[in-house]
Amino acid sequence: MVGTKTIEVTCEKCGKLYEAEAIDHIDLHDDRGLIKNLKSGKANRVQCPKCKKVMYLKRSIVINFDPESKIVVFDASAKSKAAKEVLQKTYEDIITINETLEETGNETEFLVLHDLKKLKPLLEQYLKVYG
Ligand SMILES: [Zn+2]
Repeated sequence: MVGTKTIEVTCEKCGKLYEAEAIDHIDLHDDRGLIKNLKSGKANRVQCPKCKKVMYLKRSIVINFDPESKIVVFDASAKSKAAKEVLQKTYEDIITINETLEETGNETEFLVLHDLKKLKPLLEQYLKVYG
């Protein structure tokens, strides 16, 4: 399932405030159609209804590589080691809340990536095996 959230966006060109669906979470297993958008960096692409200006939301997307035990958080703004550590810590905090999650979490490879060039080969590999 794709996890989305309605958010407000202010157009950087004409200043119009509009609502858009932002993607928070993608299960590759169920959302193959989105892999192409992820690969081209077009997930979380929004367009102003007034002036048609295209913008890319600066948000992180949690990508579940199910059935592989791998979760990748892709965040183009998490360039520094510190920013990556914050995301890693958030993940660890979430999985330690309950035992079931902790068990799953400990068996799961968790990566934080900001570079599309590093995400692409993982998606291509996934498509090769499960596509
Ligand atoms: Zn606009």
